[in-house]
Amino acid sequence: MERVTVLGSTGSIGVSTLDVLSRHPADFEVYALTANTSVDALFDQALVHRPRYLVLRDAASAELLQAKLRAAGSESQVLSGEQGLCQVAAEADTVMAAIVGAAGLLPTLAAVRAGGKVLLANKESLVMAGRLFMDAVDAHGATLLPIDSEHNAIFQCMPGVHRDGLDAQGVRRILLTGSGGPFRQRPLDTFASVTPDEACAHPNWEMGRKISVDSATMMNKGLELIEACWLFHCPPSRIDVVVHPQSVIHSMVEYVDGSVLAQMGQPDMRTPIAHALAWPRRMNSGVASLDLILQARLDFEAPDEQRFPCLRLAREAAEAGGIASASLNAANEVAVDAFLNRQLSFAAIPRLLERVIENVENVEPQSLADVQAADALARERAQSLIGEFGS
Ligand code: NAD
Ligand code: MG
Repeated sequence: MERVTVLGSTGSIGVSTLDVLSRHPADFEVYALTANTSVDALFDQALVHRPRYLVLRDAASAELLQAKLRAAGSESQVLSGEQGLCQVAAEADTVMAAIVGAAGLLPTLAAVRAGGKVLLANKESLVMAGRLFMDAVDAHGATLLPIDSEHNAIFQCMPGVHRDGLDAQGVRRILLTGSGGPFRQRPLDTFASVTPDEACAHPNWEMGRKISVDSATMMNKGLELIEACWLFHCPPSRIDVVVHPQSVIHSMVEYVDGSVLAQMGQPDMRTPIAHALAWPRRMNSGVASLDLILQARLDFEAPDEQRFPCLRLAREAAEAGGIASASLNAANEVAVDAFLNRQLSFAAIPRLLERVIENVENVEPQSLADVQAADALARERAQSLIGEFGS
């Protein structure tokens, strides 16, 4: 039995992961489930999946959950805080890293340092600390498997040893596909009035609110570009973003002989989750067959960086290296949060990010502390600009 910890089990990826795991009770044991503040959701999950541990962010919520569980006859033990997260990440055989944002970095790294199987949904940890993160994967012999649908697709189309880089595998370039989000065709002069609910209504995927806003600004594709550079040991110049509104092709790899391999499927995260859980085997994910006749057509277009400046900002950060992408990521988390709380307009998100980034003195981070300092500084600058950019 493989013992699995799901970090962020109450979120969109977490719930899909539990759905896949529950289809294979003979192969997987749920070791630990974690959430930020959702006591009730974690309580319900604990009764169904009977994990050894549960983790909540603060001690008071953890105590409340522990009392509820005891009263219900459950033997699960509740831990709290970053220490609890890192403990259950280090003790499992397999960890699904599905906390959203920078909060996922330390627990995901704890899983990497324990040398187990790490299923990476939390793209922000690679965006923040790419080199340090990949060095830790090598140093501790961890098995890193991408969950982001694009990166999982690339991994499936490029089964060679990634750390040898693209040339060693005869790969010419990576084609990173994206739907273009909900505002691909919305008139640009209405971007200032976009509401949080409009931004979170993605045409093809159901996801958490932060990644949904990132998809609407196309920052998500930018973060994915940075993520792909680290995962596949490749420079940003070898990755082309292709807008593909139907989200049926999840990304492609072009080889030097002209072959282009694509991975296709329904836009349902249970496919990459099941792929990574079963890897190198295959197992049922519960996802329906793709009906190509019903689908009928697949469209492709070039990305529009005028419309979506976040994509350009992320590519520039990828090219700059150093702490640029950690700073961009931190400023973006603050801006998205402010937008969701109606303190910042949708149109102001890229303008605020640009202002934070142009003042960053870029250096190569030598340690996690350097990354965390860059993250804190960018957050502070972004926060101080919110009043100026307003809503
Ligand atoms: P979500 O908001 O639905 O869920 C986030 C989870 O993290 C929840 O369980 C929440 O309780 C927990 N969490 C939030 N803040 C926390 C904190 N400070 N400390 C501890 N736990 C915290 O997010 P999601 O859509 O499931 O996305 C999770 C990650 O996966 C993100 O990094 C996202 O970019 C990535 N991802 C998501 C999808 C998708 O389809 N949802 C696809 C690709 C990648
Ligand atoms: Mg993705």
